[in-house]
Amino acid sequence: MKIILGAGLAGLSAGYALANEDRRVVIVEKNPAVGGLAETIHYRGFRFDLGGHRFITKDRCIEALVKDLLDHEFLDVARKSSIRLLNKYFDYPLKPVNALFGVGFSTTLRIIRDYLKERVRDTVSPRDAVSLEEWVVKRFGRKMFDLYFRQYSEKVWGIDCRSISQEWVAQRIEGLSLWEAVKNAFFKFSGRNIDTLADRFIYPQMGIGEISERLRDYIVFRENPVLTGTRVLKIRHEDFMVRDVTVQSGEDVDEIEGSDFISTIPLTALLQVLDPLPPDEVLDAASHLHFRDLVIVTLLLDRERVTDLTWLYLPEKHIPVGRVHEPKNWSPRMAPEGKTSIVAEYFCFRGDRIWNSGDEELTGVTLRHLTNLGLVQMCDLIDSSVVRVAKAYPLLDVEYRRHYEKVLGYLNEFRNLRIAGRGGTFQYLNMDHAMRSGINAAEKILHISPHEKETGISLQGCKI
Ligand SMILES: Cc1cc2nc3c(=O)[nH]c(=O)nc-3n(C[C@H](O)[C@H](O)[C@H](O)COP(=O)(O)OP(=O)(O)OC[C@H]3O[C@@H](n4cnc5c(N)ncnc54)[C@H](O)[C@@H]3O)c2cc1C
Repeated sequence: MKIILGAGLAGLSAGYALANEDRRVVIVEKNPAVGGLAETIHYRGFRFDLGGHRFITKDRCIEALVKDLLDHEFLDVARKSSIRLLNKYFDYPLKPVNALFGVGFSTTLRIIRDYLKERVRDTVSPRDAVSLEEWVVKRFGRKMFDLYFRQYSEKVWGIDCRSISQEWVAQRIEGLSLWEAVKNAFFKFSGRNIDTLADRFIYPQMGIGEISERLRDYIVFRENPVLTGTRVLKIRHEDFMVRDVTVQSGEDVDEIEGSDFISTIPLTALLQVLDPLPPDEVLDAASHLHFRDLVIVTLLLDRERVTDLTWLYLPEKHIPVGRVHEPKNWSPRMAPEGKTSIVAEYFCFRGDRIWNSGDEELTGVTLRHLTNLGLVQMCDLIDSSVVRVAKAYPLLDVEYRRHYEKVLGYLNEFRNLRIAGRGGTFQYLNMDHAMRSGINAAEKILHISPHEKETGISLQGCKI
């Protein structure tokens, strides 16, 4: 029996790959529904993702798999986003004239001057960038960093840009897309091959959660259980071989034995359920790995439409919301006829003021700020929904790598336990990469050599 911990996209993709090769699989998921971060919530006839999820990929096989799963009934959505900077709205990605007009001629000259200064400095005495701030300033100049980059990244991560690892940029994040947009605007950089600047994306009609639901249906159809509402309590191991997992569903506690295990639950949570626990130095290293959490406030509105936007980015400090989206603009089926909704994302740390605020207070704050921005009116509000999403983003600070490597060094000793997925590997993976990492973990269990991989196994016609 192969046991997979977590039914987000990584765990489900691993399960799909194994079930497809006739392996017996059990997936254990603590939430009542599958999908993890890529779940779509259904509430009073409205649907919304935990922060809008667009599917784009350069991985031809993952793309084919997703299209197959959706029976080719998905929407091809045009991206149209805005960013609010200096109290004005700019197209996102920024357009040169728009950006130039917005910041004024003298600021633009300063941007160019700072940029050239950094180019000269880097030629005369090249230096390595450790933090995000160093990385951005080195490549694009101080003014550009201060103007377009600092606020949004500090809002997303909740720490100073000097403490955020430059690896974040390397892992293609939203902040980078903000940056690429600016670069695109000022230096005529072509965004054609950059995922974050892609202007169209795939979106399932009923929300991003449909991908996970279809993966689950396939796994169950092949007679493999997907146990939702079931939490992993303990993973018993001996000599770096996992024997079984103890799981809890309601009052029932069970043990499930297996030959191979894939964990996609957050890396730090995995270490905590290992029995026996890892050595103290590994636990100590893990205590330095942190996640950023998220609160999603959705306002259900008695109104046809609010915007024509895919996303609206709100980097300014005095607005606590980081980003909003209107699900109906992604798929008309995300709201009942004649109604719409707005989803506001608050980046926060579990236990901080935002996380601990009551639902009513969060609704009030959201309503107030979106009213001030001219987006909604108090009288439009039908209801609201607040969802707290723990461990949404692995926080790659400048110190994380050495602690991370210590943890990986320990986990690599296990012969039948593999990690996959975003929180599972503590890497900033998007959906396609999370799916790929799950499939890769499954392939290792199937003992597919790189050579065999080239010739390919078939996953519904897709060569993986
Ligand atoms: C706000 C936001 C917006 C995003 N937008 C995009 C986007 O536009 N495009 C894109 O490609 N990607 C986007 N992503 C990233 C995407 O959500 C992830 O890459 C993907 O969903 C990760 O899947 P996963 O399976 O690796 O992890 P997860 O979805 O985190 O799955 C892990 C699962 O493990 C379960 N679990 C945890 N602990 C236990 C336990 N003890 N027992 C049992 N189960 C447990 C969890 O409930 C969860 O279901 C976004 C992420 C966020 C937070």
